[in-house]
Amino acid sequence: MTALLAGGIVRRTEDRLADGREIVYFDDDEAFVSGAEDRRRPDLRRLDPVAGGSQLRYDVLTGEWVAIASHRNERTFLPPADACPLCPTGTGPVPSEIPAADYDVVVFENRFPSLTRVAEDVPALVDGDPLWPARRGTGRCEVVCFTADHGASFASLTPRRARTVIEAWADRTDELSRMPGIRQVFCFENRGPEIGVTLHHPHGQVYAYPFVPPRSAAMLRQAAEHHARTGGNLLRDVLIAERTAGTRVVLSGEHWTAYVPAAARWPVEVHLAPHRDVPDLPALTGPERDELARAYLELLRRADRYHEGVTALPYIAGWHQAPVGADRELGRLHLQLFSILRAPGRLKYLAGSESAMGAWINDANPERIAARLREVASPGGW
Ligand SMILES: [Zn+2]
Repeated sequence: MTALLAGGIVRRTEDRLADGREIVYFDDDEAFVSGAEDRRRPDLRRLDPVAGGSQLRYDVLTGEWVAIASHRNERTFLPPADACPLCPTGTGPVPSEIPAADYDVVVFENRFPSLTRVAEDVPALVDGDPLWPARRGTGRCEVVCFTADHGASFASLTPRRARTVIEAWADRTDELSRMPGIRQVFCFENRGPEIGVTLHHPHGQVYAYPFVPPRSAAMLRQAAEHHARTGGNLLRDVLIAERTAGTRVVLSGEHWTAYVPAAARWPVEVHLAPHRDVPDLPALTGPERDELARAYLELLRRADRYHEGVTALPYIAGWHQAPVGADRELGRLHLQLFSILRAPGRLKYLAGSESAMGAWINDANPERIAARLREVASPGGW
């Protein structure tokens, strides 16, 4: 099944892998957009069915759900480049996850998911005790390949390709939000072995959770309280305040502003928010998506210049979107981009205070982070 997206510049094609997992291609190359050529090949691998052993257990001490996914221990760990499962099949000696001679952007269901489409049944209580509710780990985990070029990075993409990735994120958010039981869709990228990335190929992930994750839940509680007190939307009011103060603003366009949050908790951290109130990526207009592609690339390029002598900053980039269903009106789209690299060769570890107590100590001053991110702006503008 194919369809044209983004005013006809992206061609979306659905297919299935050998074990039944879904794969969706987002092509922006003219020959493939027009349908004149098709790079897809049949997936001839013999694959075991996807493991469905994930379950959720309720942490009664904190009120948070924890996914127990022990089957993931078997997953591929830093394979050599010629056995990369994210390169197109045909460029290496073994078939990859992508049965195509080439691709632009592609999304497929993770073979080692933390949350599974078909989860095995679990007893409603661990050891039969009402203190420990449990449920199936039903949800969805997808992989998003940003380019077929193994040695590239998101920051090296053209604005056109970044725009195609945005189309893919919006498409997946829209589709996964419609799946029964899904409460939150999270598009993110972990970059660099320091973050725990197990594959070097430029890629990100999409998680669709059957519950509202703890950080979202905390932000929604704050937003509800703010709304009750002031009648305003918390995330909108924070954006307005940052734009008014200007001290931590890193870049600003017609539709988007990037700022370092006043209480930044990471050595490098920046948020990117739309000027218009939108719940999620699918709600963005074409012009908003166009500018987002350029603003996001500029932020990633500045990140790679942040520390002198470091050309590839390890980072996590995550899209906070409004939840599906209850409290949706309290959410507002924004990106959180941050790094654990304090200085060349020095990582911030989440040790006692952060890991055990959840109490953050940032050695970097938010205003100085913002000043540095302005200093390393691209000379020709963005
Ligand atoms: Zn690769």
